[in-house]
Amino acid sequence: MLDEKLEPIFADVLRRNPGEEEFHQAVREVLDSLGAVIAKHPHYAEDALIERICEPERQIIFRVPWVDDRGHVQINRGFRVQFNSALGPFKGGLRFHPTVYLGTVKFLGFEQVFKNALTGMPIGGGKGGSDFDPKGRSTGEVMRFCQSFMTELSRHLGEYTDVPAGDIGVGQREIGYMFGQYKRMSNRYESGVLTGKGLAWGGSRVRTEATGYGAVYFVERMLGTRGQSFDGKKVIVSGAGNVAIYTIEKVAELGGKVVACSDSNGYVLDEAGIDLDLLKEIKEKRRGRVEDYAKQRRAGATYVPGGCIWDVPADIAMPSATQNELTGRDARTLVKNKVLAVGEGANMPCTPEAVRLFLEAGVLFGPGKATNAGGVATSALEMQQNASRDSWTFEATEERLAGIMNGIHDRCAEVADEYGSPGNYVLGANIAGFIRVAEAMRAFGVV
Ligand code: NDP
Repeated sequence: MLDEKLEPIFADVLRRNPGEEEFHQAVREVLDSLGAVIAKHPHYAEDALIERICEPERQIIFRVPWVDDRGHVQINRGFRVQFNSALGPFKGGLRFHPTVYLGTVKFLGFEQVFKNALTGMPIGGGKGGSDFDPKGRSTGEVMRFCQSFMTELSRHLGEYTDVPAGDIGVGQREIGYMFGQYKRMSNRYESGVLTGKGLAWGGSRVRTEATGYGAVYFVERMLGTRGQSFDGKKVIVSGAGNVAIYTIEKVAELGGKVVACSDSNGYVLDEAGIDLDLLKEIKEKRRGRVEDYAKQRRAGATYVPGGCIWDVPADIAMPSATQNELTGRDARTLVKNKVLAVGEGANMPCTPEAVRLFLEAGVLFGPGKATNAGGVATSALEMQQNASRDSWTFEATEERLAGIMNGIHDRCAEVADEYGSPGNYVLGANIAGFIRVAEAMRAFGVV
């Protein structure tokens, strides 16, 4: 049940954003946490502050024409939702996936606002992307698409305006093509306009690893509150992309064993522990599938086409693929299998029912906007290095990341305690993020 002051705000969000279900879901989850805040501090409900937080500052939709390898003209749709700049320039990734529509980008942008606030760094929230499907496209096609996409997007970017990064379907290769086009068009080497860059051209050490590593740090800290750690634990990680790979790497470093990972076609079960060198070779170099991993793993691994990774018994689950990939049914299975902790590496991978079931069962649950904030935090460190024309060591950067993740964990835990729900990191993250954004917005007046 929503607070009665928040009910009409949510009704308005539904009315103004028809059909955008993921966006409704993300807003609803935050509003669910805010009843306690406005009961304690009624001024946050004044001047339509919450209504303004739910409305993006600017939404850009544009045509992206490009020529495929057969000489045919293709048209995609590009998006950038500049959600909230109260704390700094808009900041958030670009997603290239055929399912992307305005509702996806708005939900991701909305989540990003609170996530970025939680990092404590000077970054606002935004998100973008396209319904372009990079799968099966040649390198030349991906390059031409990225160049066309950036030709339009470049008008809306800038170190002090909006600084995109990667997300699903956008890694260092795509960031390279987009940065190259931006540089060519602007005739300026503005490193601070994109993050996730290569090390040779203004990138930061640890940015590639940051989201996965950060998620593992967050979960390790949650486990610590119960005198537990990753050491000796069996772990399952969905996805096999950037977040999943570096989650697997850090879990192994901390003594845990990841026995399964997946892609949208199925999952691979490898009881000996995922061989990361092989997985990286297949995913990062050959751009292959997890099925190829199972075929090439000499020690024996099983590929389960169309299978559900959450059926694999484990102590810890790290959903790191996409939104709503872990349902109520999956949560019941995990709880039945005595899962200790669930950390969201992806954005909103657990459905609201799944989250409720985990909280009711007393499972340690790290919500994405806290758990996966290490990626954007390290992007902000990349911006700092670009601004000072400096380049930090891997060790120094990772230490900063670990400190930021521990800080986010502790802040969420502290706020959950303060609001009478100890151990509820969902509430803690939503409230802590909201208060920081709300304070800045109140200072600015009605803008
Ligand atoms: P990648 O594109 O590198 O990898 C995505 C992975 O998820 C792929 O293995 C993909 O498989 C899989 N996947 C996608 N859709 C599905 C599905 N419906 N079912 C099962 N698997 C699926 O993306 P990232 O690793 O960068 O992003 C993963 C998640 O983490 C996203 O939610 C993203 O928003 C979030 N995130 C990413 C950050 C980053 O720094 N990269 C920062 C914070 C959050 P397939 O190849 O079959 O599509």
